[in-house]
Amino acid sequence: MKKNGILKIDNVSSEYIVEKYGTPVIVMEENKIRKNCQLYKNSIDEFYEGKGMVYYASKAFSCKEIYRIIMDEGLGIDIVSKGELYTALSVGFPVENIIFHGNNKSEEELRYAIENNIGRIVIDNVEEISIISDLAKKYSKIINVILRVKPGVDAHTHDFIKTGQIDSKFGFGIENQEAIEIIKCILKYKNIKFKGIHCHIGSQIFSIDPFIHTAEIMMHFILDIKKQFDIDIEELNLGGGYGIKYINSDDPPDYREYMKEISKIIFKISKDNGIKVPYIMMEPGRSIVGESGTTLYTVGGEKCIKNIRNYLSIDGGMIDNPRYILYQAEYDMIIGNKCDLKKDKLYTIAGKCCESGDIIGKNILLQDAEKGDILAVFSTGAYNYSMASNYNRIPRPSVISVKDGKDKLIVKRESYDDILKNDI
Ligand SMILES: *Cc1c(COP(=O)(O)O)cnc(C)c1O
Repeated sequence: MKKNGILKIDNVSSEYIVEKYGTPVIVMEENKIRKNCQLYKNSIDEFYEGKGMVYYASKAFSCKEIYRIIMDEGLGIDIVSKGELYTALSVGFPVENIIFHGNNKSEEELRYAIENNIGRIVIDNVEEISIISDLAKKYSKIINVILRVKPGVDAHTHDFIKTGQIDSKFGFGIENQEAIEIIKCILKYKNIKFKGIHCHIGSQIFSIDPFIHTAEIMMHFILDIKKQFDIDIEELNLGGGYGIKYINSDDPPDYREYMKEISKIIFKISKDNGIKVPYIMMEPGRSIVGESGTTLYTVGGEKCIKNIRNYLSIDGGMIDNPRYILYQAEYDMIIGNKCDLKKDKLYTIAGKCCESGDIIGKNILLQDAEKGDILAVFSTGAYNYSMASNYNRIPRPSVISVKDGKDKLIVKRESYDDILKNDI
């Protein structure tokens, strides 16, 4: 391998990582994750008088170690399945700080959550209300619920990651009265405590305007609920969706600015209408772990198609990073053993799956690459490992964490026996 400047990730050499753990490997920077947790937490203290809580949206990256870090930083989590809940509980995550989302939670999942005293369940369909009530009766518990609503805001993001508009499988419409009807239904059940309302308008959002607009709509809905049912909504959950930097032109919002603005608006609407300021809940996922991750691959070779394109093959692809295939997501990359050389060659990065669409970036400027080089892809901490698959029976990669020059394995590479494990 030619060496012209070796990439270091929090003072750990990428060459060392590749030799020790093999490729592909996802490298998570623990200090960055912790810093993000603190940013979110502190901004509630600073601008919202500490009356709120940050819940890491664990679908972005879920494994035991991330739950340990999040727990240590004093954040809660949101989960969308029994599998995520099971993983969190396996490291002793405080269950009162867990919110259970999902548009189609199974009865088994609800039972497991209720047996374990889940903190909040977010109602996202009519059918689950009576199931929750029956389970609550059976276990003699009062279950705290939040209702997911659609504020009807267009968040200017990719169609598949936009969720706040009326045509979405998530939530109930405010403008078409669906949400009010569901609240009527929830209030009939004595062992369900209606705590608050939730929305999540989409993901990878760069402008703070849609968030502010959403906060206003949600506050007016709280006033509406008060008028119609004479109840005070204690909790306002505004979801996640804050964008991160994947490529140079991405310009994520300043989160503190956002928190400052929405705090002002919520405080003002509360004061003007004589209602108690709601407890606020935030659910960042991508922005906690996304920029903390870097994936390292080994370059297999090049296929130059004259006047068309140069394919550069790597030993991973859509199995560890399906985001290009899903959303044409863009990434910044570098040849990790040639950092000091100029990026002057155009490549399309091809994965190893038997699928023409298996690429992780088109027309990427990189250093002149050859077999055996390290390709480092940045900002892969969110929605990569958590979306990884076994397509073509390729084992899922390992995940390590680095911190102040030290490395630690946090998820083992899948073995071929793991792949056979469920075959009969
Ligand atoms: C996906 C999701 C989040 C997190 O979104 P990010 O864009 O990763 O911040 C938060 N809340 C809910 C309900 C979600 O579905």
